[in-house]
Amino acid sequence: MTTDSNPRASGTVRATELHDLIAAFAAIGSTGDGGVCRLAATALDQAARDRFRREIDGRGLLARVDPIGNMFGVAMLAPESTDVVIAGSHLDTQPTGGRFDGIYGVLAGLLAVQALRHRAIAEPGRARRNLAVANWTNEEGARFQPSLTGSSVFAGILALEDAYALQDGDGISLGDALAAIDYRESSPLDLQPVRYVELHVEQGDRLERAGADIAAVSGAWAARKISVVFEGEASHTGPMPMASRRDAMRAAARAIEALYDEVERENAGAHASAARISVYPNSPNVVAARVRVWFEIRHEDEAVVLVISSRFLERVKRESALLGVGVSFAADELRGTALLDSAGVDVVRGVVHDLGLKALTLQTIAGHDALAIQKRIPASLIFVPSRGGLSHNPREFTDPQALDKGYAVLVETLWRMATAES
Ligand SMILES: [Zn+2]
Repeated sequence: MTTDSNPRASGTVRATELHDLIAAFAAIGSTGDGGVCRLAATALDQAARDRFRREIDGRGLLARVDPIGNMFGVAMLAPESTDVVIAGSHLDTQPTGGRFDGIYGVLAGLLAVQALRHRAIAEPGRARRNLAVANWTNEEGARFQPSLTGSSVFAGILALEDAYALQDGDGISLGDALAAIDYRESSPLDLQPVRYVELHVEQGDRLERAGADIAAVSGAWAARKISVVFEGEASHTGPMPMASRRDAMRAAARAIEALYDEVERENAGAHASAARISVYPNSPNVVAARVRVWFEIRHEDEAVVLVISSRFLERVKRESALLGVGVSFAADELRGTALLDSAGVDVVRGVVHDLGLKALTLQTIAGHDALAIQKRIPASLIFVPSRGGLSHNPREFTDPQALDKGYAVLVETLWRMATAES
């Protein structure tokens, strides 16, 4: 806390500043029910980005934007070094997004970098590396698929031209959308990234159930994402004899139920959903000719994902054939289990211990930018509890005190990483 009349100029971060910033960003694309709809590279995303840019400038950080629209705010703690430790997350949301998913990590990162810039001035000679806050483009994958776009380009696992060519449901490319909002710049980060730290809400209920404050995330569950196309035949929903119908919707319905059935039968704690469907011609009076369903299955053990998904696919083929419906696969992506940097887990756990908080070590079930960035540099992911495990929902909520604890852990983690001898 401070009595300084101009805390922003002095660099001191007020205790409520994080909460005020989260509220300010929640107003950009507010859905009126506590939630936020701010899809990547839209006018609302531009408004949030412009506000973030003003915060970067106003707090004495150096603004940078790379060609895929990733934004950075740099603090040169150690000007003799070209190394930079990055803290960040994403400002885009799902259509039914909450106020904290992604935004928390960006705004906490902003304040942490600002606070540590001033700590480095107060403790000269300590910092060996520079710091930056980042906002990664199209993390959510709601408008453009695949997700984690900006961080994947940054990590070198997705080519810039391929990312530009991604199209939304209206056929607009990400490259054009970024140009339209004026975030297809090239003032890249001219420093050497050496570490990444992401603070995020858990989006599950494991921390809450364990009564823990912080999770040091050690890796990620495996996931298989399969998009199945069911090919039947269009016919009149009235006169067409039932025995002659080739009903793609009926085959899709059986497949959806088969997925949940196989997950329950395996009884291994796998998570699965069929959460998106498209129907052609999508008329109440026409038996569906073609239906596409997006399925996904997740588990911490890749073998369990493979067992469930292969049984599921066998059933889909067999039961669809009985209905005279053909099956093809529009997409089939297997993401294996991933590991995050173990030294980073040790740093986070050490910080949590020293701050007198309770830590869990767990694997993330959701995808995060940290998983993409780990392909280039050591990455760390820190969770705070989500009330009721709810996210991608307007009622997503994390207690203010829990947000503050996560912020304190982020600040100290970044300081240790910026000052460590190696
Ligand atoms: Zn997120």
